[in-house]
Amino acid sequence: MVTRISTCALEGVEARPVDVQVQIVSGQTIFSIVGLPDKAVAESRERIRAALASLGLGLPPERIIVNLAPADLPKEGSHYDLAIALAIMAAIGAVPRDVTEGSAAFGELGLDGGLTAAPGALPAAMAALAQGKQFICPSACGAEAAWSGGHIIAADNLMSLVNHFRGVRPLNPPAPGAAIDGNAVPDIADIKGQSRGIRALILAAAGGHNILLSGPPGCGKTMLAQRLPGLLAPLRAEEMLELSLIYSVAGLLPRGEMRRARPFRAPHHSASMAAIIGGGARAKPGEISLAHNGVLFLDELPEFSPVVIDSLRQPLESGEVFIARANRRTRYQAAFQLVAAMNLCKCGAESAEDCRRGPRCSEEYLSRLSGPFLDRIDLTVPLSAVKIADLALKSPPTFNSAQGQALAEGARKLQRERGDGRPNARISGAEVDALVQLEPAAAALLSSAAERFGLTARGYYKTLRLSRTIADLRLSEGNEAPVDQTVIRADVAEALSYRLPGQIGGTFGKAGTAQRARPRLISSSAFH
Ligand SMILES: [Zn+2]
Repeated sequence: MVTRISTCALEGVEARPVDVQVQIVSGQTIFSIVGLPDKAVAESRERIRAALASLGLGLPPERIIVNLAPADLPKEGSHYDLAIALAIMAAIGAVPRDVTEGSAAFGELGLDGGLTAAPGALPAAMAALAQGKQFICPSACGAEAAWSGGHIIAADNLMSLVNHFRGVRPLNPPAPGAAIDGNAVPDIADIKGQSRGIRALILAAAGGHNILLSGPPGCGKTMLAQRLPGLLAPLRAEEMLELSLIYSVAGLLPRGEMRRARPFRAPHHSASMAAIIGGGARAKPGEISLAHNGVLFLDELPEFSPVVIDSLRQPLESGEVFIARANRRTRYQAAFQLVAAMNLCKCGAESAEDCRRGPRCSEEYLSRLSGPFLDRIDLTVPLSAVKIADLALKSPPTFNSAQGQALAEGARKLQRERGDGRPNARISGAEVDALVQLEPAAAALLSSAAERFGLTARGYYKTLRLSRTIADLRLSEGNEAPVDQTVIRADVAEALSYRLPGQIGGTFGKAGTAQRARPRLISSSAFH
C-alpha cells in the first residue's frame, strides 16, 4: 500500500509538483529516501524520526521507502520534511489517508515536532492551488501562502495538524499578509541646485531609462538616486505578485507582507557576484532580481568588480538572468532600472585639477567600466559641486516629487496608449522604427551626430528611445491631447547631450578638452 501527498521542487520562482510516495513493507528495518534528494532532503530522515517521536509515534521496524517523483527532478532544501512526515503518518494511520491524498505540504520540521518556515511558500501554495489541492504549511508561512487564494492550513506543530485532521481542534485559515506602502521616499524638493540632474531623473522615470550620474563627492548623486522611486508609478497588481514570488523564494516576505512601492536596492560595491547576480548553494535570487520592476542603485560603480559589472550586461538587455548550476540553469526575472553613480577619479577629488595623482587616476578608475557596459546606459549626467549660493537659497523649492511624478506619468500614459505598457527603454529595435518618427531636421541631426561620434547600433537605438521619451514628456506638458507625436530636432539634441563625449568622467569639462586629453576614454565609452 502506498500513501501519497504532494509537495514541490523550486526552480527559481517556478514550483514543480513533486509526488511524495511512502511504502512500508515488512523486511529489514531501513528508512530511505529516493528520487534525487540533496543533502538537506536526505537529512530530513533524522528530523522526521525525532519529530514523530515527540508525538509518541515510533517508526515501525520495517522497510520504509520514500520516493520523490519525478525522479529526474533534483530535490533541494528542507521543505520536504512536512510532506514526508505526513505521508508516513498516513501510512501508519496517525492521519486520515484521504486528507494527505488531497493535499500539498511544505515546511521544515524541528526535532520537537514544530514546523519551521522555508523560503518559497508563495509559489508552492500557488502550485497546490493549480493542482486543486489544499496547502499545509507552518504558521510562519500562512500569511504568505494565503495570497495564493487557495485553501491553506497553517499550524505551529505536527500535533496541531493531527488535532485538526481528527476534528478535535480545527485550525482557522490564515489571512493574507498586508499590502504595505514601504518606507517613505524622500522628495526631490530637498535637492538644491542640480536642475540638470533632476531633469535627467524625470526622463529616466518617464521612459524607464538607465542613468549614470558622475561628479565630485557630495554633489548629490545618492540624494538624486534615492528620489527616483518617488517619481515612478506604484506597482500594478501583477507586478507586485511577480516581485513577491522572487522575495518569497529569497525568504524575504516577513509576515507575508507585500510591498506596493517599487523596490530600491543599493548593494555595496564589495558585494559578491552571487549576491548581485544570484547564485550560491540553492541559486537564490540576487540584488538584480530583488530590484525587479524597480531600481538598482550602484554607488561608486567603478569600485564594483569588473566581472560583476560586465555580468549586468545580459540582464540589462533582456530583463532576466540565468544562473548556471551543475547541470541546469535557474532563471529569474531582473527587469530593473539601473542608476549608477561615480566620482571623477578613484581618490574622489573635487575636480581634475585637484587630483594629486593627475589624469592617470581617473583613467584607471574609468577603465574598469567596459565600452559595451557603458553602451547600455541611456543617460550620462555630469554633475558639478553644489554652489554655496544654491545651498543658501531661502526661496521655497519650485519643484517637488509629486509634480515630477505627474509629469513622468503623463509621458508614461502616452507610452501605454501606443503599446503594451512597456516603457520606451524596453521597446525592441523593430518597434523603435515604427514608434519613433523623426521630423527631417531631427533625422539629419541624428545621422550627422552618429557619424561624427561613431555611435554604435545600440547607441543609435538608445538615442532614439530616449528622444521618444523626451518628446513624450514635451507632449504631455501640452494642454491638449497630442495628435502629432513626431520627434522634433530639439528632442534629439537633448537626447544626444546625454551621450556626448566628455560627459563620462564629468569635470573633464568641455567635450573638446576631454576629447583631446583622453582619447582612450572616448574610444572605450559609449561611442564604440
Ligand atoms: Zn584622483
